[in-house]
Amino acid sequence: MTAGTDPGTRERENVTVVGGGLAGMTAAWTLRRLGLPVRLLEASPELGGMAGSRVIDGRTEDHGVHIFPAWYRNTLRLVGELGLTDHLRATRKFHQLLPGTEFRSADTPAADRLLFLYGVLDLLAQDYRAGDESLHDFLRGRRYLSPAAVADIEHLFVASSAAESTAVSAAGFRGSIAAFVRHPGRVRMPRGDLQQWFVGPFRQRLEAAGVEVLTGRELTAAATDDHRVRTLTLRGPDGAETEEAVPGQLVLAVPHGRLAALGPGITGALRPAHGILELTSRPLGALHLYLRRRLPGLPDEHIRLVGSPHAITLIDVGQTWPGHRDSLLNCVVGRVAALRHLADDEAVKVLVEELMAYLPGLDWEDIEHVCYQPHSSAPFHAPGPGSARHRPQAFTAFADLHLAGDFCAAPAGVAGMEAAVRSGLVAAESVRRRLRPELPAVRVDTIGDVPPPVARLLRAALRPAVAAVRRRSGGDGPGGNGSVRR
Ligand SMILES: Cc1cc2nc3c(=O)[nH]c(=O)nc-3n(C[C@H](O)[C@H](O)[C@H](O)COP(=O)(O)OP(=O)(O)OC[C@H]3O[C@@H](n4cnc5c(N)ncnc54)[C@H](O)[C@@H]3O)c2cc1C
Repeated sequence: MTAGTDPGTRERENVTVVGGGLAGMTAAWTLRRLGLPVRLLEASPELGGMAGSRVIDGRTEDHGVHIFPAWYRNTLRLVGELGLTDHLRATRKFHQLLPGTEFRSADTPAADRLLFLYGVLDLLAQDYRAGDESLHDFLRGRRYLSPAAVADIEHLFVASSAAESTAVSAAGFRGSIAAFVRHPGRVRMPRGDLQQWFVGPFRQRLEAAGVEVLTGRELTAAATDDHRVRTLTLRGPDGAETEEAVPGQLVLAVPHGRLAALGPGITGALRPAHGILELTSRPLGALHLYLRRRLPGLPDEHIRLVGSPHAITLIDVGQTWPGHRDSLLNCVVGRVAALRHLADDEAVKVLVEELMAYLPGLDWEDIEHVCYQPHSSAPFHAPGPGSARHRPQAFTAFADLHLAGDFCAAPAGVAGMEAAVRSGLVAAESVRRRLRPELPAVRVDTIGDVPPPVARLLRAALRPAVAAVRRRSGGDGPGGNGSVRR
């Protein structure tokens, strides 16, 4: 804080960040580094939101498995700033398992790999600046892809985002593919649970830097007047509600559904006004199975169960996390919503039986403990077709209100933790412009793109080889005789 400033100025410089997920934590961290007094309010007992953990049945359970691709430039820079780079380990490979009586990797034949590469270039060749389509529509229009290949790509997506391909933005998918192309490199994962290896140390750094962190503080209402947020109603750990004036700038970093619940006074101030009412999120579940033994032959890296009905991916974190000897299968369940009519123990039965089809030797007797988190009340945002125009900006029509969260406006393809961290940086920049215009802008790294004309050239170069493959396999593309037009 600037020495010698009068109390009124100091008060106006206060920043309150509501929502202690990754977006809010990043905003708080960045604003504090600008020298501003920052208070971070979080409804639950722990920070971290979806990228955190909580204690269930006496064990620290992650909200779900989290991976950090090399293109997460803002996230990885933040991890570096926090001194936590060593808390992540690099992985080598993404494994795909087929069902069967022994571990069977889905090794893609060379011809299919060529078609897949052509499909990627085809997607990158699209120019979605003028309009979006669903991933489903993009894939169905690609007649060089077999129905099995289309189903496999769709399964891959639902496993990571909980969204079926009809609800996935092709522009967003294109953006994330371009990001992987621009920033190839190993995917990273925490060396242990998210609380101990990421969120806990992040909270320590925040508090050491002087951020006042208050957990168990839920924002239940916000009163607005004359283009300002006047008061916040907060429910404290004892359940009592108190109303307080907003002393300075306010960053709301809560999920879009919670933001919408604050009413039209707030949603009308967003840019675009009320746009968040058009956004959708879906639950992405987690199932953690503690086994009594180490399952032999299972890789210690990210695994997708190809074609699994509930779109399961998993990691046997027991192989790498400290303090574990036996297998601990941390599974993410893409189609968890399909189980919502079942009681939790029935849903677990369905999922474990599904796992048994892929993990030979896994038996009920092996399971020591189960933690099932369907996350129905904490859905995950995956941008739908055309939703970019509804995603709100960090700045609003109110001089004192700013926004952060993984659903905020971002370049196509930026989602998950990278979207959350990026939004926290952009919100901090929005506050800086108000309070510290003399300071340099907050750094927000861009991911970059693959220009469609470049992709079109490469696609054209590959076309004869793809046509030859199609001829050899007897397929006929849209032009017949194995020719490839799209
Ligand atoms: C199972 C699963 C696996 C995932 N895996 C990955 C992955 O591998 N890679 C990746 O990049 N992303 C992954 N994600 C997504 C990623 O976790 C999120 O995109 C990101 O953490 C969102 O951060 P956020 O701060 O925007 O929102 P949130 O994490 O939702 O944080 C919002 C915070 O606001 C708090 N809050 C809500 N309402 C109020 C209120 N009224 N008052 C005060 N506080 C409030 C919440 O308690 C929460 O802490 C995964 C998500 C899930 C569910």
